[in-house]
Amino acid sequence: MELKEKLIIITGGCQGLGRAMAEYLAGKGANLALLDLNQEKLDQAVAACEALGVKARAYLCNVANEEQVVDTVSKVAEDFGAIHGLVNNAGILRDGLLVKVKDGEMTKLSLAQWQAVIDVNLTGVFLCTREVAAKMIEQKSQGAIINISSISRAGNIGQTNYSAAKAGVAAATVTWARELARYGIRVAGVAPGFIETEMTGSMRPEALDKMTSAIPLKRMGRPDEIAHSVAYILENDYFSGRILELDGAMRI
Ligand code: NAD
Repeated sequence: MELKEKLIIITGGCQGLGRAMAEYLAGKGANLALLDLNQEKLDQAVAACEALGVKARAYLCNVANEEQVVDTVSKVAEDFGAIHGLVNNAGILRDGLLVKVKDGEMTKLSLAQWQAVIDVNLTGVFLCTREVAAKMIEQKSQGAIINISSISRAGNIGQTNYSAAKAGVAAATVTWARELARYGIRVAGVAPGFIETEMTGSMRPEALDKMTSAIPLKRMGRPDEIAHSVAYILENDYFSGRILELDGAMRI
């Protein structure tokens, strides 16, 4: 797909990887609809895209809220017309061991921690994909949907909730690629390793150092390197149903 003047929706588009993707795709001439929870940061991201000469709009939308997702996708279609792509990028962390015993005291991963991550990282991806796919089919618009999974989908200590959600996203990617191919919609994923963003910036420095030294390329990835992969998938019309792993050769 040639990206010039195509409309791509990015969830979690106001910071981190989402914002890097927005600017990268804007640089290729794509118009952007950015969904996130923070109006001020959304406005800054929109301005950065517009400065690259494309149309961009901000939408306050919680991807885990069905009504908001349904309304927002309709609004995007009213504002821009045909939708050609979606990047399901919004995500959160609520790390914790399943059961932890320290100084004789036991703590458990709470149901709230589990549910918050499943709601955003898995249910949010389902809701956005369902609504965007339905709209694209209605519009007879072809394109691609990209889900941001993670290296942690293979299972990672302290990430029961996150790993489960990211594995679910990877499995759903294959399912949706098979189901939606008949409508000319490709579905694929990117599984980043450790990338320099606010999300990893919030990790404990010791944990971050340990992680970096375990990466064969001995550095974290950069947001523009993930954005590059997203652009590649959008542009390559034969890429579907697969997860592109971008992790500096580090595999959990
Ligand atoms: P980030 O925290 O910097 O950005 C995530 C964005 O998602 C934020 O702008 C946040 O406001 C938004 N968001 C969170 N909950 C939302 C909701 N309910 N509705 C709408 N927006 C919501 O994180 P990031 O590092 O840029 O991560 C982006 C994606 O990449 C996530 O799915 C994350 O799991 C994945 N990922 C990141 C890394 C990494 O190393 N940074 C590695 C693997 C996967």
